[in-house]
Amino acid sequence: MMTSNQTKRLVIVSNRVATPKKKSASAGGLAVGILAALEEHGGVWFGWNGNLTSSSEPGAPQVVKKGNIEYATISLNEDDYEHYYNGYSNRVLWPVCHYLLDFIQYDSANFDGYRRVNAQFARKLASLLKPDDIIWVHDYHLIPLAAELRDAGIENPIGFFLHVPFPCYEAFRAVPGHEYLLRALCAYDVIGFHTHRDLAAFESCIREPIVGAEIDDDHVIRMPGGSLVADVFPIGVDVEGIAALSREAAELKRVKKMVKSLGGRNLIIGVDRLDYSKGLMQRFLSFERLLQRYPNAQKNVTLMQIAPPTRTGVRTYDEIRAELEQVSGRINGRFSTTDWVPIRYLNKGVARQPLMGMFRNAKVGLVTPIRDGMNLVAKEYVAAQDPDDPGVLVLSSLAGAACELTEAIIVNPHDRDNVADGIAAALNMPLEERKERNAALVKTLRKNDITAWRTRFVDALLRKS
Ligand code: UDP
Repeated sequence: MMTSNQTKRLVIVSNRVATPKKKSASAGGLAVGILAALEEHGGVWFGWNGNLTSSSEPGAPQVVKKGNIEYATISLNEDDYEHYYNGYSNRVLWPVCHYLLDFIQYDSANFDGYRRVNAQFARKLASLLKPDDIIWVHDYHLIPLAAELRDAGIENPIGFFLHVPFPCYEAFRAVPGHEYLLRALCAYDVIGFHTHRDLAAFESCIREPIVGAEIDDDHVIRMPGGSLVADVFPIGVDVEGIAALSREAAELKRVKKMVKSLGGRNLIIGVDRLDYSKGLMQRFLSFERLLQRYPNAQKNVTLMQIAPPTRTGVRTYDEIRAELEQVSGRINGRFSTTDWVPIRYLNKGVARQPLMGMFRNAKVGLVTPIRDGMNLVAKEYVAAQDPDDPGVLVLSSLAGAACELTEAIIVNPHDRDNVADGIAAALNMPLEERKERNAALVKTLRKNDITAWRTRFVDALLRKS
């Protein structure tokens, strides 16, 4: 019996599965987006459960059902994990996708591990699949998964969404293994990116003789042996949900205490995983420039930077953490008075609800990555504002979100004067202009919200079934 498109099971695959018990306060944008998609559609979320073993082959997937979602997870061998995750994914693919070629640390053993784990994922997933399932694979850890599934005889429609930027060919070709990755991407039926810039970069890669693709006007990519659809699907947020959460959170004791502690000063907020792509060092130095250039800002503002550590144990991450501690300490030592500290630097995550309350109380949302696929914090900050007295988003031109959020104050994170001036303009912006900009931004958020993202991608995938 044929299954209608509406009742087809959605199978989502990502490196890490946020099982219901393990949702952390600092769950990344990917986890937030995927869960919203699955809750709406129902289906299976397949991936790693966070456990490491010494056995060379993980056992059968463990399945836990909650509501309309089945969480199917596997453990990974500890050496495989090191090669696949810390090694190739995060020391090679992450930096090249963020155009940070100096951070690449390639080792062929890591590349082998990356391929081995993708093959394992495919074997374990294949045992769970039904003929009518549609499969949606997420992010750079799993680029070869469709090719591995095809080798295992799986013919279901398979889509891939990249949550990080896609590099242009001139950057990508620096990566050992890029030829293999580009060919592997061609095994997908649908490929999605956050921005038209990422799509154009991908197209620049597959036009090269390695693939030799031709691109139609209607986003169809034709190459020897088949075709696929590549398009732009900007991830969004639950606009009304965040607005409600931030209104309620303003009443939380924790949020009220934070506001009281500001002593009437304006709050500038930054919220980022502790990652070199987030431009935290440049941000602290730009804030220092603000205090230098605008003496009035001294004593009138406080920067609160929330930066939960990730990928601890990876050398570059441990190094950046030490550097940030040093520079924030230096700036605080230079400008602090007996009753004011300019930078509150928190090396820990804040749970979602109080975070939204803090966004609502922040006069400026400072989002200045040196490169970012989208940046959900930028969108959440806008959605959390009081429309009658909104704060202002200062946003890096190098974040994917800048393609949509054009009414933010757009700055270049490498230019300290430009960022300092942007913050000053945000702090001094008249109420009417703040309201106009916020209303325009919220309109954009509503158009491309989390539901639109999921629906557009799944619809594109269904058209392939
Ligand atoms: N987040 C959080 N608490 C924190 C830090 C981050 O809940 O202490 C959330 C944040 O609200 C957002 C996500 O984690 O939903 C980060 O997504 P983003 O796209 O900004 O960056 P990523 O971490 O995916 O690079």
